Amino acid sequence: MSDMKLFTSDEKPTWCPACGDFGILASLKQAFAGLDLSPHDVLLVSGIGCGSKMPYYMRANGYDALHGRAVPVATGARLGNHDLRIVVISGDGDGYGIGGNHFMHVIRRNPDLTHVVQNNQVYGLTKGQYSPTSDKGYISGTSPDGAIEMQINPIALAMASGATFVSRGFAGDPKHLTQLLMKAVRHRGYALVDVLQPCVTYNKVNTYDWYRGRVYKIDDESGYDPSDYDAAWGRAKEWEERIPIGVIYQEEGRPTYEEQVPELQAGPLFRQPVERPRELLESIKREFI
Ligand code: SF4
Ligand code: MG
Repeated sequence: MSDMKLFTSDEKPTWCPACGDFGILASLKQAFAGLDLSPHDVLLVSGIGCGSKMPYYMRANGYDALHGRAVPVATGARLGNHDLRIVVISGDGDGYGIGGNHFMHVIRRNPDLTHVVQNNQVYGLTKGQYSPTSDKGYISGTSPDGAIEMQINPIALAMASGATFVSRGFAGDPKHLTQLLMKAVRHRGYALVDVLQPCVTYNKVNTYDWYRGRVYKIDDESGYDPSDYDAAWGRAKEWEERIPIGVIYQEEGRPTYEEQVPELQAGPLFRQPVERPRELLESIKREFI
């Protein structure tokens, strides 16, 4: 185990006091320390949003991508250096709205990435508009009569798309979240960690108390088997009255994307001698000239 203080940056978070992002930041540092990682082992890739400032507040490699584009940047980084532990971290708007198409396709590819979605059911940074996960009827500045659209269910969507690790955490329970993040980082393949993250400034409905009264730990249930797809599908649909947190579905052993790319079998791309790509380019040139 390393020391979580290794991951503390000099930057002070500008989040509102009591924002759920504080719990996620602390849990992530604790999880990296628990996995005995050092800052140089880790790359955090974020998008745009309150929580997407996370790479500034963590002492590790970091990349702040365009809105909704953290997933393709992280996939590229994974192909360039598959020795890195890569964590994509951004909000529900960024991950499921603007980046919704990438969400579906990264699942199909199954690269070894951990995808943490800070799900506060609202667009926090831009002052509280309803987001893809806001419940139908949610009242905001842009939906004064209540959101007309149905909310998406990221857990069911990930399962239906074929994800090999689907989980949910709660920012108000950092101890449980730390354990969950460690499992997600250890998983070989794409791992979704949807985190219920109260936005104390704009979302006055889905508060800490609202979540506390509903969440239950699926891991505590004796006999729950996350490899049972049908059982997991039943839990994936639970919302409103009872909300499961923990590993809802896990399939082990499916090859990752990078394991199936022939060029990566000789080791991480950045370690390979530059002659290889040069030879390859020359042979392509010869084919067309
Ligand atoms: Fe957190 Fe909401 Fe404040 Fe953004 S606006 S920092 S999500 S509490
Ligand atoms: Mg949000």
